[in-house]
Amino acid sequence: MELVKPTTDKFTIAAALQEIGSLLELKSGEYFKARAYKAGARAIAELTEDIGKLIKQNRLTFVKGIGFAIAKQIQEVYATGESPLLKELRSELPPGILELANVPGLNLKKIDQLHKALGISSIPELKAACEAGKVRQVKGFGARSEQKILEALASPVNRKPRLHLHHALRISERIIEFLSTAPGFVRAEAAGALRRRQETVSEIVVVAGGQRPAALVDRFSRFPLILRVEERSSRQLVAILTEEIKAALLAVQPEDFALALWRATGSEAHLRKLDLIAAKKRLKITLRGIEGLRRKGSKTKPVRPKAEPEIYARLNLQFVPPELREDEGEVEAALKGTLPDDLIKTEDIRGMVHCHTTYSDGKHSVEEMVHAAEQMGMKYITITDHSPTAFYAGGVKIDRLQRQWEEIDRVQEQSKIKILKGTESDIIADGSLDYPDWILEQFDVIVASIHSRYKMNEDQMTRRIVTAMRQPVFKIWGHALGRLLERRPPFACRVEEILDVIAESRAAIEVNGDPYRLDMEPRWLRAARKRRIKFVISVDAHSTGALHNLKYGVAMARRGWVRRGEVLNTQGVKAFQKAVRPV
Ligand SMILES: [Zn+2]
Ligand SMILES: [Zn+2]
Repeated sequence: MELVKPTTDKFTIAAALQEIGSLLELKSGEYFKARAYKAGARAIAELTEDIGKLIKQNRLTFVKGIGFAIAKQIQEVYATGESPLLKELRSELPPGILELANVPGLNLKKIDQLHKALGISSIPELKAACEAGKVRQVKGFGARSEQKILEALASPVNRKPRLHLHHALRISERIIEFLSTAPGFVRAEAAGALRRRQETVSEIVVVAGGQRPAALVDRFSRFPLILRVEERSSRQLVAILTEEIKAALLAVQPEDFALALWRATGSEAHLRKLDLIAAKKRLKITLRGIEGLRRKGSKTKPVRPKAEPEIYARLNLQFVPPELREDEGEVEAALKGTLPDDLIKTEDIRGMVHCHTTYSDGKHSVEEMVHAAEQMGMKYITITDHSPTAFYAGGVKIDRLQRQWEEIDRVQEQSKIKILKGTESDIIADGSLDYPDWILEQFDVIVASIHSRYKMNEDQMTRRIVTAMRQPVFKIWGHALGRLLERRPPFACRVEEILDVIAESRAAIEVNGDPYRLDMEPRWLRAARKRRIKFVISVDAHSTGALHNLKYGVAMARRGWVRRGEVLNTQGVKAFQKAVRPV
């Protein structure tokens, strides 16, 4: 057991609470007590206030999720570096129990027997003992149970949940914050598919640079959300976090950071192409640096790039941003120098598009949404509540619409940013839009979306959308293909044909930033770009917090190679209003 120094560090305290929770659960099945400690661990890990201050002012129990018993343990850890309860639990239970309890078929009693008979306190020890045929000799075990343990250890975890982008990003940020207090820490960044901003990821990869990589690995091994460690070396640690989320840390010296990050970001296909280009130039990119190969087979001293752009520059390529590294033509474009260098950025956006309020199914009032958008530096906001057909989402009937407009006028008087009156009008099954034309024509902006009858066949759906698009008031195509990530696929329709129709109009395609939608997807954005179709990047916000969906919409647009000039809500309010005005 290690001695923990007295600390003001919230993560050490959270780790102690998490371990208490897990041990309590194993010890006596005290499920609710265990859960309370785990909830306490989460609450502490997510604290934004200084924990020392909370303790001094006796305000710990004011934090949601922390009761008196847990507060007492927190104070102990804070003052002495140890929790008496944790100490007691550890001494009562066999060592390695948290790791071993994850093996199917092992419970506390059996783990205790294995420990007493064979001194087993880890998975590798258990595996070795099974292979040597020793486990079958322990009371309560036999050849069959030994075989079963071996099978369980060999089979990879077959449940592979995919995480939504926003969730994965949040966890990676917490890992990085946690690592940043390790001795010698210099920097860390999420890599892999997450850095490429794929809609969902199967694992979180973080690359960290520090004077002592082993200290970073050690630090990560105590991340409070870790359920079990799958692989560990002095440079790397792969762990399963709560909710079966896989997270890997790769720790390197600070001077190796850029190359390690680049490799860990991928994609495999993108890296392979770059390796080929390097080989043609008689260069080799290794984790030690970029080496020149001499004729006789000897190598030049490796040059370590300080940052990723140096890698691309050395190969005479334009820099390829991470979101584009999918081997979808970006390497060829970078070779020719035709990669867009003005890809859309979050800072370019000047107006919040597609916001709901309490008038339909939003959580916040017009005033609250407007205020929050203003705080984020926006110059305008479009209020687009649901139309009457979306009755389940409290679609706004005409009389209430009038009240909303009056309210908007009132809020506008005190607001510095322009509020545009809009609707998210349903595209009805026959392709017409909700609300009569004389109403539609009075909106500043209409987002037209499908919310029902998803299961039409390809012909019907294509006709429905094309019919909707041919109406002059159709200016923004909302969450185009109706997908819900991991839950509902895009609906069947002939996308290319529809893009041809929209290209003939002045309508734009929405890039929906709701992390459960992220619609339309990057490959279709590229197809739309080829037709010179414009975009709006929207938040589809149902609360003020969801205005931050903007960054996910921007990430999708970047993956679709969308440039600043192709996004309507980068424009000032006058130009935007003119571009989307229904008539
Ligand atoms: Zn919608
Ligand atoms: Zn919406």
